[in-house]
Amino acid sequence: MAGYFVNERNPMTAGNQGKPRRIACRIAAVLALSILWMVSFAVRTSRAQASDPKKFHVNSQRLQGTLEKLSEFGRNPEGGVTRTGFSETDMAAREYVIGLMKQAALEVRVDPAGNIFGLRAGSEKLPKLLFGSHIDSVLHGGNFDGDVGSMGAIEVIRALNDGNVKTRHTLEVVIWTNEEGNHFGIGTLGSAVAAGTLGPEILDRKDEQGLTLADWLRRYGQDPSHLTDARIPRGALAAFLELHIEQGPHLDESKIPIGIVQGIVGIRRWQCVVTGFANHAGTTPMNRRKDALAAASRELLVVREVVRAETGHQVGTVGFLRAEPGAINVIPGRAEFPVELRDLEAAKIDRMWERMQARFMQIDKEENVETRCTALDKSDPAHADPALQAAIRDAAKSLGLATMDLPSEAGQDSQEIAKIAPMAMIFVPSRDGISHSPKEFTSWQDVANGAEVLYHAVLLLDDRLNRK
Ligand SMILES: [Zn+2]
Repeated sequence: MAGYFVNERNPMTAGNQGKPRRIACRIAAVLALSILWMVSFAVRTSRAQASDPKKFHVNSQRLQGTLEKLSEFGRNPEGGVTRTGFSETDMAAREYVIGLMKQAALEVRVDPAGNIFGLRAGSEKLPKLLFGSHIDSVLHGGNFDGDVGSMGAIEVIRALNDGNVKTRHTLEVVIWTNEEGNHFGIGTLGSAVAAGTLGPEILDRKDEQGLTLADWLRRYGQDPSHLTDARIPRGALAAFLELHIEQGPHLDESKIPIGIVQGIVGIRRWQCVVTGFANHAGTTPMNRRKDALAAASRELLVVREVVRAETGHQVGTVGFLRAEPGAINVIPGRAEFPVELRDLEAAKIDRMWERMQARFMQIDKEENVETRCTALDKSDPAHADPALQAAIRDAAKSLGLATMDLPSEAGQDSQEIAKIAPMAMIFVPSRDGISHSPKEFTSWQDVANGAEVLYHAVLLLDDRLNRK
């Protein structure tokens, strides 16, 4: 079971290994322990991110246990999971999670979009504090994307129960439906319905088996005709917090345990078509060619150059290049490629795109072709709320955990919820920045750190928000 995770000793549980049986063993053990203590003290004092387990309220082992159990649903041979939204394995995993929520004394309900909510009543009539993530995965995904934030949220509730902690705000844990969107091609589906971005127009979409989204919602026990009832009205939430793995390399590379997300980057995409003239590869002299592929090749390198020319976290990608007619002895007359740009600042994306277009025009002249780009879908950047970011920062600081401010380059449910409520995210490191892969890994210490920061951030916000 645990073998599917990399077997890493959890520093928080080290030392609970069982007692030596004989006196001789005991003396040896005492000696060895003293040496170990000295070594570990030196290591501890040299590692800024190491934390004192005594301060922790979340139970790291219990959290690890739920993550390991969750990893059994849809486990793939590579050790990760394939648990796409709207699938039998997702359905089984959801049942497991609902059971956990009930064990944690949460009042469970599922909305018409399939989002699972677990409520813990507060002492005052205030907007709810919502936190959680998603448990669906990509095809051949890992065991941490979404799962850490989902199990982390439930662990926070269990820790509050353990300490008999009462809150002013009603707390609610959420598991959003179909975040990855591998099924039906609609990502952040549950949160987008909750935010009012998606509506009944999605219900007739069919999957490869010919089942509609409405069919699947019925299988999830929902009445699709009530889909819009899943909308969360503005003002109903005091805040939404999401704990998530970074999925990029910045925290791991800098050995910083906690990321404070500034926002989720905006994405803009274009489809570019280069029109030249298909002609004989032997008889057309080099100076008379209108080679669409040669021009497109220069243009896709321009994308990289322009993006790299500015400082910051912005990224730009050309995902493919197609040429026609695609014969070895014909000069390509048509080439097609997409451009995707991501950044936290919409103005920066616009600026980079203008520069690219100017360079494309220049290349068109030199290559005697014509490039036309049309805008595809776009999503606006979603900025995290400063007061929520401050609570995460204070929470991490109180635990002696170093933080880094960074954007989320990946799409998130939080970007949808940002449309209806203040939002913030806590990131924990992804080893080598790998995600959407069975090799995805976050150490148990980092998982526990993230959950503990969430615990404190929830309590800080419960105290700070909606004061008269
Ligand atoms: Zn995710």
